[in-house]
Amino acid sequence: MNYFPCFINLDNKKVLFVGAGKIAVRKIFFLIKMNAQIIVVSRKISNNLIKLHREKKIDWIDTNFFENQLKKIFLVIVATDNNSLNKYIYEKTKQKKILVNVVDDRSKCTFIFPSIVERFPIIVAVSSGGTAPVLTKMIKEKIESTLPMNLGKSALLAQKWRSHVKLKFKKSIYRRHFWEKIFEGMFVNHVLNGNFKKAIKVLNNEIKRKKVIKGEISLVGAGPGDGGLLTLKGLQVIQKADVVLYDNLVSSEILSLIRKDAKKIYVGKEAKKLCISQEEINLILIKMAKKGKKVVRLKGGDPFIFGRGGEELEVAKKFKINFQVIPGITSAIGVSSYAGIPLTHRNYSSGIIIINGCKKNEIEGKQNWKSISRLKNYTIVIYMPRLQSTYIFDELKANDYPLDMPIALIEQGTTLNQKTVIGIFKNLKSLLFLMKSPTLLILGKVVSLSKNLSWFKSDTNQNSLL
Ligand code: SAH
Repeated sequence: MNYFPCFINLDNKKVLFVGAGKIAVRKIFFLIKMNAQIIVVSRKISNNLIKLHREKKIDWIDTNFFENQLKKIFLVIVATDNNSLNKYIYEKTKQKKILVNVVDDRSKCTFIFPSIVERFPIIVAVSSGGTAPVLTKMIKEKIESTLPMNLGKSALLAQKWRSHVKLKFKKSIYRRHFWEKIFEGMFVNHVLNGNFKKAIKVLNNEIKRKKVIKGEISLVGAGPGDGGLLTLKGLQVIQKADVVLYDNLVSSEILSLIRKDAKKIYVGKEAKKLCISQEEINLILIKMAKKGKKVVRLKGGDPFIFGRGGEELEVAKKFKINFQVIPGITSAIGVSSYAGIPLTHRNYSSGIIIINGCKKNEIEGKQNWKSISRLKNYTIVIYMPRLQSTYIFDELKANDYPLDMPIALIEQGTTLNQKTVIGIFKNLKSLLFLMKSPTLLILGKVVSLSKNLSWFKSDTNQNSLL
């Protein structure tokens, strides 16, 4: 079952508890903080609930459950140890379209309680939809240990300044930039250290500062596919972006890390397809940055390796737009690691040469295959090899590249769809024919090590023809 997460305002809403065991008591204490009107139906209640009742914080009905107790109730939490009674209440509440949660019985819940990390007014809710409660608890504990105890105070203090900031910055994007700067700077530190006056001074100074909002372009390498291979800095930058222009090689895992309200523009170039031109991409980058936006150009692998990153930065420079580059793990590095192929090894390879398999090299017109073929003690990594397999094969063969040299073809490397085919150079064309985009070609003696060193998806999808 899928659950939609949402936060409900329970201010003065009636919440009925039937049964009042330990779990119910915990929830009652939390719901009181949320200003809900709690009514407990139970013959017996614990001492702490009696105290709450005396303090008029909850109502207590000292009877069995009756259907008419559901009148005007918003939520029902059932926590008796009588299964048939629980079932009866669940059915009655469902009929009346009242939200109901039968404690510890997922099949009788129209809503569930998430695990909560609370730094009031900040609340982080975690749920696995009932599939893995222990995992949920572990995630909760992780978050719990990373959020400072009085973080919520920063939010409460900031709230008082919201209308003031709104008056000062009419556009929401500028407000967001303002708050990002505040929450990343000394303001939070001062609040955490209990120096509220200093914190307010920081806010005041920042509001008064004359603002020139400048856009910027960040070229970010997304790595070869596995979301875990995105750099920490890359993550921080994409989470602050107003606009993200991304390629077809950027995995959906990485795309899901982009801020939800950022504008995402797909500008992928796929071989043999009609696509957006480089000039059009440059134009969007410049236009957005000139509007004062934080623009991220997100590319598969590393932006400077066969990614036209340099060209885009030259344009940014020409238009006097600030830019930065956050490198990514290029596929030669990432994909070879996931295929268990060390690119250098004292006994097999003294270096790496990285080339692309395109027929035309814009500087020289043609790769220098004669020199490349001589590198028998090196690892040759070829990007975009699929469409020119005959060309690559013929050129290397004509220059006496060994027909029995081990080769690896890796499709969608570092992702769960990774497919690895190991063979020898003689069979390059027929093997490449089996592969889909994106595929990386590695040639060299180190490839023979993958049999031993393969670790990722090592129990599936590994076709060794060696
Ligand atoms: N900037 C990218 C390369 C872009 S060129 C980088 O640094 O990796 C596109 C080529 O990269 C593809 O044709 C393929 O050869 C290679 N490639 C990119 N991601 C890959 C992946 N996950 N698995 C295999 N090859 C990949």
